[in-house]
Amino acid sequence: MTVAQDLAAVRERVAAARHLAVLTGAGVSAESGVPTFRDAQTGLWARFRPEELATEAAFRAHPQRVWDWYAFRRERVAEAQPNAGHLALAGFARRHPDRLTLITQNVDGLHQRAGSTGVLALHGQLFENAWLDAPQPCCDLERERVGSPSACAGCGNLRRPAVVWFGEALPLKTLAAAQQAARACDVLLVVGTSGQVYPAAGLAQTAQDAGAHVVVVNTAPTALDAVADVVLRGSAALILPELLSFK
Ligand code: NAD
Repeated sequence: MTVAQDLAAVRERVAAARHLAVLTGAGVSAESGVPTFRDAQTGLWARFRPEELATEAAFRAHPQRVWDWYAFRRERVAEAQPNAGHLALAGFARRHPDRLTLITQNVDGLHQRAGSTGVLALHGQLFENAWLDAPQPCCDLERERVGSPSACAGCGNLRRPAVVWFGEALPLKTLAAAQQAARACDVLLVVGTSGQVYPAAGLAQTAQDAGAHVVVVNTAPTALDAVADVVLRGSAALILPELLSFK
């Protein structure tokens, strides 16, 4: 089949699907100018690997360095705008209430800024903070600010970005809802993810085992191509509107 035929066939499946699930990764935000982890290792950060920055151990050892890296990422993301891929997903959900479950590994909030609601954010939110250790009665995220990264004035507990770091568990309820959507969908689109981070990547196999049609949308080969029924090679901002923009 040609690319155009593949695209048309997937579009028909999406149109006929009672329930569509979409799993997105950093590639969906690439055309908004948000760097993937690897791209974010530029300039000052080029000498660190993500595993040396996005872990609890790294934060405990070098809280200022890790906080500064997240501040850099927050600045980059704050300047970015949702692209046609984010908007196509939000538009589909508006026109077809209760038919789409949007699951993302992204922490950038661009799906939400595009108007998507009920997004299952498996890896947390870049712009929110949480306590590093279990909060004590003196810990108030809104109020007390001492030092950088800011700490509770009462007990010294540090604020950290509310993202899931390497080696940390995903939010249980969010993961369970994503797995349920993968089991219940007729079509799963896997968009802009390298498919190397589990358990998120496992959703493709879960969906296929339950009988869904699994479609990978990516500019390059991925670890999940072998699981997919169809691979659409191309950019999310071009392909998602093609797949989702029918009435
Ligand atoms: P990844 O960086 O491992 O892979 C990105 C994938 O996107 C690649 O397969 C690449 O070929 C593809 N891609 C690049 N541009 C694309 C485009 N225009 N259209 C379609 N595909 C495109 O990202 P990942 O798989 O999401 O996993 C990395 C982890 O990093 C995740 O856990 C995520 O939480 C985190 N992360 C998030 C962001 C963000 O929130 N935007 C950014 C960096 C990293």
